[in-house]
Amino acid sequence: MTRADDLYRDLATALQETPKVPCLGIDRFTADIKDLAPNESTQLGFAYCSHCPVKPACVAYADAARPPAGVWGGRTYSPRTPRTP
Ligand code: SF4
Repeated sequence: MTRADDLYRDLATALQETPKVPCLGIDRFTADIKDLAPNESTQLGFAYCSHCPVKPACVAYADAARPPAGVWGGRTYSPRTPRTP
């Protein structure tokens, strides 16, 4: 079991215990990183993550696991690939 696994379990518990997680049901949080507009993750972070009660657990997990997709605590973890015209 890795540290990321432990932190994922903590995040899952926090999500289960929280009645209203701001990003639930918003597909932009699970979008492929290449499909996000420039600064979109930051904008989502201000709009939703800034008042999320599970943000500490979300960010702790994402910092450890560096998920290749999605927005976590208002940021992404994979390098953006250039779009082709
Ligand atoms: S901090 Fe994490 S769980 Fe909370 S709204 Fe943002 S992405 Fe969702």
